[in-house]
Amino acid sequence: MPTLFEQSVSGRQGVSLPEAQNKAGLQSWIPKTLQRQTKPRLPELSQLEIMRHFVKLSQQNHAIDTGFYPLGSCTMKYNPKICDVIGQLPGFTQLHPETPDEYAQGTLEILYRLQQILIELTGFTAATLQPAAGAQGELVGMMMIKAYHEQRQDHDRIEVLIPDSAHGTNPASAAMCGFKIVEIPSNPDGLVNMEMLKKHLSSKTAAIMLTNPNTLGLFEKDILEITRLVHEAGGLCYYDGANLNAIAGIIQVAKMGFDVMHINTHKTFATPHGGGGPGSGPVLVNELLAPFLPVPVVTHQNGQYALDFNRPKSIGKVKAFYGNMEILLRAYAYISAYGLLGLREVAETAVLNANYLKESLKDNYHVAFPQICMHEFILTSQHQHARDEHINTMTLAKRLMDYGFHPPTVYFPLIVPEAMMIEPTETESKQTLDAFVQAMITIDEESKTTPETIINAPHSTPIQRVDEVLAARSPDLNFYKH
Ligand SMILES: *Cc1c(COP(=O)(O)O)cnc(C)c1O
Repeated sequence: MPTLFEQSVSGRQGVSLPEAQNKAGLQSWIPKTLQRQTKPRLPELSQLEIMRHFVKLSQQNHAIDTGFYPLGSCTMKYNPKICDVIGQLPGFTQLHPETPDEYAQGTLEILYRLQQILIELTGFTAATLQPAAGAQGELVGMMMIKAYHEQRQDHDRIEVLIPDSAHGTNPASAAMCGFKIVEIPSNPDGLVNMEMLKKHLSSKTAAIMLTNPNTLGLFEKDILEITRLVHEAGGLCYYDGANLNAIAGIIQVAKMGFDVMHINTHKTFATPHGGGGPGSGPVLVNELLAPFLPVPVVTHQNGQYALDFNRPKSIGKVKAFYGNMEILLRAYAYISAYGLLGLREVAETAVLNANYLKESLKDNYHVAFPQICMHEFILTSQHQHARDEHINTMTLAKRLMDYGFHPPTVYFPLIVPEAMMIEPTETESKQTLDAFVQAMITIDEESKTTPETIINAPHSTPIQRVDEVLAARSPDLNFYKH
């Protein structure tokens, strides 16, 4: 597709502005060194040409609005459009962030109500809605854990235990707080190795960071024992709630023995996910950690909503003003529409869909962990690779694109070689799931009969194979060729 510069015709304009009045007067404002000597090099096109260019680009993308997107760990579900509308109501978006509390009662009420809903959903006692992503929620949680130990003069607690299946943000967040990471290996059945956990617990243990269901899509059946052992050793328990879609409305995280958790509203609660944000990672805590919550905390007293900054033990401010308000509004709208019982049905259907896909594919693909899964599961390309050594997970993922599906998450989690992590979510119909199964089975057949169609895939996309390392390390961000 030609770039905007290649389509440019000298003198063509998208908008006509009136000549500036008193140009010389305006220029006298701007220091000479900052004044342009030559015109900026911009493409010259009509509005229509520009619109067509960007719409065509958008049509070359795969999106949840155009097709199935089983990207494991990301919960790429349909997010009802009504949530976008509510998230953009001008009464919220045009509120000046410095508005005094008494004139911002509506916004504060929504924030307060959302806090209460999340508290009810998870069983914790207090919340902050400020963190802008799951990873920032983790950081906030770990900062509070650090403050807790320091307040108790328990300065030797410098280690954070993290299973080897964890999302990379977990060790990164703990390390940013100055903790030392101790990796806990998984068992062959994909769960935390209890012997290794016991071995690493000590008077140095500050906390464990755990994802449940874990990133292999498995529920940690020893969870109560794990949190009990960590507490016994004097550590606290952090729950990574990015996989809440599997359990929302079914179990309260606090009852599993955790002290603090974050929620990825941009996975579970109706903010389109992918492409890097904006997001929101509310953090929930029990009474041990509540004093350390970031300021301000939204309060409700004597019929008035307010922002409370007077919290001497707080870890401080972590995000400007109210957090990502639009994202929080979407979550509020979504949860209100479903209700707690509706959320339970969401979770049950997400788990059912994942197990349906796993069972439908297990005769054709190697299943990493055959037991009943939660909302996602992992296949590998072992069988197909055995038939042709050039076939691997990357080639299978590329071939899926020819059938109109976004590939699953590949090569994550790191502990499963050649992983394909599939998360269908609750919003897909049986027909869509069956079509996906059919495509996967056809590709398996191709690995026997025409392996080169897989190895050379994709065949139908506007761009074939890109050099992903080069694209990430040295992206070419120039509009025009030098
Ligand atoms: C997505 C994810 C995170 C990080 O969330 P972000 O909002 O992307 O920062 C953390 N843990 C798990 C298990 C995740 O899936």
